[in-house]
Amino acid sequence: MERRASPKFYPSPYAVIDNFDKYGLSDDGFEAEIRSLETIAHDETAKNLIRIFFLQEKLKEVAKQSTYKAHHVHVIGAGTMGGDIAMWCAMQGIRVTIQDTSIDRIAAVVKKFSESLKKRVKERVLVQHYRDLLVPDMKGDGVAFADVIIEAVFENLEVKQTIFKDVEIRAKPNAIIATNTSSIPLDEINSIMKNPSRLVGIHFFNPVEKMQLVEVIHGKQTDPNVMNDALAFVLQIKKLPLSVKSSPGFLVNRCLTPYLLEAVALYDEGVSPAMIDKAATDFGMPMGPIELADVVGLDICLSVAEHLKGTVDVKIPESLIKQVKAGNVGRKSGKGFYQWHHNRPTKPPVIAHASLNEIVIQQRMILRFLNECMASYREHLVSNADQLDAGVIFGTGFAPFRGGPMHYAEHLKHPMVVSILNEYTKSFGDRFKPDAGWTEGR
Ligand code: NAD
Repeated sequence: MERRASPKFYPSPYAVIDNFDKYGLSDDGFEAEIRSLETIAHDETAKNLIRIFFLQEKLKEVAKQSTYKAHHVHVIGAGTMGGDIAMWCAMQGIRVTIQDTSIDRIAAVVKKFSESLKKRVKERVLVQHYRDLLVPDMKGDGVAFADVIIEAVFENLEVKQTIFKDVEIRAKPNAIIATNTSSIPLDEINSIMKNPSRLVGIHFFNPVEKMQLVEVIHGKQTDPNVMNDALAFVLQIKKLPLSVKSSPGFLVNRCLTPYLLEAVALYDEGVSPAMIDKAATDFGMPMGPIELADVVGLDICLSVAEHLKGTVDVKIPESLIKQVKAGNVGRKSGKGFYQWHHNRPTKPPVIAHASLNEIVIQQRMILRFLNECMASYREHLVSNADQLDAGVIFGTGFAPFRGGPMHYAEHLKHPMVVSILNEYTKSFGDRFKPDAGWTEGR
């Protein structure tokens, strides 16, 4: 239980265990449970977890404005993301065609799907049923029949534009045309389309199977009906859809990146990576930022940070650039900030830093996270603070028992947040400058 939920933040399961341990199944046990429930139900963790449950319901509610249902999804690009998106959709019982310029990539997806089905589905007939739903389609014939077309090829504007020029001509008139881009503005991709209002972003997170959130992105020209249909499709495939305005990094990567970069800046100042991760997990993050950067891939972190330049004050720490240049890109290469064996990091012991204590380390990372959330809120990337909280919790794992970053900042009180940010601006630099939204709203 301790591995899944720290007793420091989640008291309920421990109260259940303690009561059972003390009284077993007896009347006294039931009474003890009533008494402990009274305390637990009123504590902040319970209130915030109930809040998150309702936030989740609100995300689903927004997606119910359209009754759009997909029977056939066509995925272009059978790489890390395209392959997993195709498999996920097929697992939801939808027919999927998958296209790539490389036959090997398609073959790898079919093989991976087959292997995963053997593990997950017991009935042989069903294994065959699901397997038949995923159809290799080198030529892209599926474009003409699909209800949803999702492009997930290399992050390259020209390649994507060439694809959409062709897709737009061949797709059914009411098909959803979507890109999984993580950084290219929709209004750049759709500039070559005859009808740019058809393009929408459907941005999945890696790993697709585990991440519940999907950002549904609208450019300046995206038709609101297309948006509603895309939100409904995301709900259909049992993901949580969040409507986000197209802007560099969208919501999740934009809020997460300053936090990750601050962690690497601390590393460059000589704080041990295990200490940095401990400071974050002690706050309630499910995984420390240094480990997370290694898992996501340092090359991807660097590329996202570079795309955010101009929007966010991102000074890219030296060590991040050096690691990527050396080919140490994290878990996938066996080495990043940590050494990796069998998908697990070897963490050296936590060593205290000579001048930075754990509270300062923690606050530096969390405050940059909160400050970016406020900037995103002020810029109307999402419709309200609840949507932002839900997006950041389900997209990044932000300590759920704190109720979301905006809710947590309310709890701290905005003047207090501003005061610490000002203090840190003096000590550590302009990247801590409080966002205007703290005092002016939006
Ligand atoms: P990848 O390199 O793993 O896969 C890209 C695939 O596209 C390759 O299999 C390639 O052969 C294929 N391809 C290239 N040109 C093509 C064409 N003209 N027609 C058909 N197939 C073509 O890339 P990825 O990591 O899966 O990223 C794909 C997209 O998803 C990018 O836009 C990326 O920004 C976005 N994304 C990536 C992640 C991530 O963590 N990797 C997360 C979210 C979004």
